Amino acid sequence: MKKKQHYTVTGGAGFLGSRLCEKLLELGHEVLCIDNFYTGQKSNIVQMLDSPYFEMMRHDVTFPLYVETDIIYNLACPASPIHYQFDPVQTTKTSVHGAINMLGLAKRVKAKIFQASTSEVYGDPTCHPQTEDYWGNVNPIGLRACYDEGKRCAETLFFDYHRQHGLLIKVARIFNTYGPRMAVNDGRVVSNFIVQALRNEPITIYGEGTQTRSFCYIDDLIEAFIKVMDTDDSFTGPINLGNPREFTIKELAEMVIDMTGSASKLVYKPLPENDPCQRRPDISLAQKELAWTPSTPLEQGLKPTIEYFEKILAQ
Ligand code: NAD
Ligand code: UDP
Ligand code: UDP
Repeated sequence: MKKKQHYTVTGGAGFLGSRLCEKLLELGHEVLCIDNFYTGQKSNIVQMLDSPYFEMMRHDVTFPLYVETDIIYNLACPASPIHYQFDPVQTTKTSVHGAINMLGLAKRVKAKIFQASTSEVYGDPTCHPQTEDYWGNVNPIGLRACYDEGKRCAETLFFDYHRQHGLLIKVARIFNTYGPRMAVNDGRVVSNFIVQALRNEPITIYGEGTQTRSFCYIDDLIEAFIKVMDTDDSFTGPINLGNPREFTIKELAEMVIDMTGSASKLVYKPLPENDPCQRRPDISLAQKELAWTPSTPLEQGLKPTIEYFEKILAQ
């Protein structure tokens, strides 16, 4: 049995953060959830409010935070393109000022700190699959830059606090993850396609649907989050976390139609600016350092995700 520790999870009311909070409680820890509910939902955390070991604080990470804690997971940031592009200045502030404040907190209380970075640091990659030593191909003035460059700057801050102040850091580059608890209006492809299919509405494919993504089921990812924190203090990352099986967006649409038995038809819409053509993680480092490989194939993970949206849409 491990010692009970106090965890702080920023973005804890979001899709990934709320599942992480639950997992940490299951492991016997105390959890402080920090969120400003920009994209997070109270319904994601309501089941934890009865626990004496769970605490929720409404707070925006762009402002300083003075609490006592042992370990920090920094997940606060909108992740879906429609949400992070809605207020791009706030998105960059959340990544950059949020990182500075959480690193300042970690420095003061000597906490180990995890950064939820992203495959978007690779931009529209010219190297395939993407390895951690690839520096990326990001348009610094494009519509996605508020997210991509914000996350890249956050990585810089993490490594400089590590080098300059000796902070214990873990930087994970997360690839497209899906599962129950994505918001109906999240806007990312898996939730959009499932919601459209269940409503028998047209499935909106952006571009020709030949662009690829590699989809990881949430439970596999959360398992890796826990393992990353448990690595040796000398391990900083960056480490790719994702499922290396790659699909075209059209293949995903067809799979969702098939699994939901929907009458929806495919409709083609313009491809958003700077939309990456291909994305697949090289996870050799995670396999070696964490002894981790995602075990949920897309077909298997889509099942509970579809069931979740069926329930939500019936309410
Ligand atoms: P999400 O939008 O569901 O969760 C983000 C959470 O952060 C929300 O609860 C939101 O309210 C909160 N938040 C946003 N700005 C904040 C602020 N200024 N102060 C406090 N809270 C704030 O998205 P998610 O998919 O759960 O993503 C969580 C993290 O993982 C994000 O940092 C995201 O960039 C990263 N990530 C996710 C994926 C993925 O596929 N899900 C991929 C790569 C990286
Ligand atoms: N900070 C915080 N909580 C803390 C300690 C610091 O939010 O417990 C913030 C504080 O606002 C500061 C930032 O983190 O601006 C960076 O802190 P650091 O100590 O690195 O820098 P400094 O205080 O010297 O600017
Ligand atoms: N996409 C799509 N239809 C949608 C939503 C997204 O075709 O309704 C495409 C989008 O253009 C991108 C891919 O699906 O090529 C993944 O998009 P998402 O927003 O989920 O994540 P990201 O682009 O950040 O990987």
